[in-house]
Amino acid sequence: MKFSIALEPLEKIARVGIENGFEAAGDAPHAEPTPPSCYTPAATRPTRQERNAASLDRSIYRVMTPRGPKPLLRTMMTTACERNCFYCAFRAGRSSTERLTFQPDELAEGFLRMNKARLVDGLFLSSGIIGGGVRAQDKIIDTAEILRKKKQYDGFIHLKIMPGAEYEQVRRAMQLADRVSVNLEGPTQGRLAKLAPQKEFWDELMQRLLWMHQIRSEERVRSSSVTQFVVGAVGDTDLELVSLSEKLYRQAGLSRVYFSSFFPIPDTPFDNLAPASGERQHRLYQASFLLRDYNWETEDIAFGADQNLRLDVDPKQAWADIHLRGSPVEVNRADRHTLLRVPGIGPKSVERILRARRRGTLTELKDLRALGIPSPKKAAPYVLLNGRQPVHQLPLFPIDI
Ligand code: SF4
Repeated sequence: MKFSIALEPLEKIARVGIENGFEAAGDAPHAEPTPPSCYTPAATRPTRQERNAASLDRSIYRVMTPRGPKPLLRTMMTTACERNCFYCAFRAGRSSTERLTFQPDELAEGFLRMNKARLVDGLFLSSGIIGGGVRAQDKIIDTAEILRKKKQYDGFIHLKIMPGAEYEQVRRAMQLADRVSVNLEGPTQGRLAKLAPQKEFWDELMQRLLWMHQIRSEERVRSSSVTQFVVGAVGDTDLELVSLSEKLYRQAGLSRVYFSSFFPIPDTPFDNLAPASGERQHRLYQASFLLRDYNWETEDIAFGADQNLRLDVDPKQAWADIHLRGSPVEVNRADRHTLLRVPGIGPKSVERILRARRRGTLTELKDLRALGIPSPKKAAPYVLLNGRQPVHQLPLFPIDI
């Protein structure tokens, strides 16, 4: 095991970033590339360390936040950990991992320097666990307290909730952060046991997600809550992942579920497993958005005999091929719910169609295009316009939403 002491904060952040590049359970899906450092300093003249921005790149992730797309510093209070999750680069006993630990004021200082140099516009803070989840959570909260209270930083903060964190810690984190997360990792207790044998699905993880929902219902806090699954390492099925996602949206008020295709990390018990496909991750996101944004239920989504989604077609089109090809939807009469079932028509397009219908009759695909509907050809096989199926060419290749 390698230890480092007395490093300058930005150098430490850069070195944690190199380790973090292996993390299988981060905020952004694996398929999302690490963004290049494309910053141009405007008002602030950077120090020599800040000019070495390339070495910090591995800690910077461009993600979608409730405040829009942002480059975030994604880092950890410590890369040391007493647990042994099988997929993780930071697991106890992995000798090739460099162990680095920040004090809260040190991490806050490093982050603020990067923020001032316009390298990052937000913080995603996680941690390994040494001395239990409560202790690790205290350090995360202390860092956020320094940023919010002592330094008056009002930008985006995402805090990870540690397994076993206490109710009051979850509550304080939600008061300080814009987003908090508990990564469930597996969709059932059994799947989690195969991924991370020391984590307790209900008592350590799910309970915290339910607390978040309760806290939000009792008081005004600034934070939304999200979770993430590691997909494809231990036989998990899409049906398991999608049906739990639906429960989390409906019963725990999550704003988003993330799916991270498993990727084997050298020198871990899973290093000989095959990586999971990015296409599977993509289809899971499409199904998840149907649940969250289109009010679909798990029963509406088609799964194969293996309980997985089809990889060759998006779930919305798969449903429409079965239900709408033989009985297309009349765009001039269908209600909002029915229009949302048509591939190529999303919530914004539905609003535009409903407004346009008050002014007249839609008769051709170009009428839909004129409303700003991006690809009316996707909708064409499943709709009628004034009683007639619009003329369209069958695609040579499967189409996507
Ligand atoms: S608790 Fe598990 S996933 Fe988190 S850092 Fe430790 S080994 Fe990795």
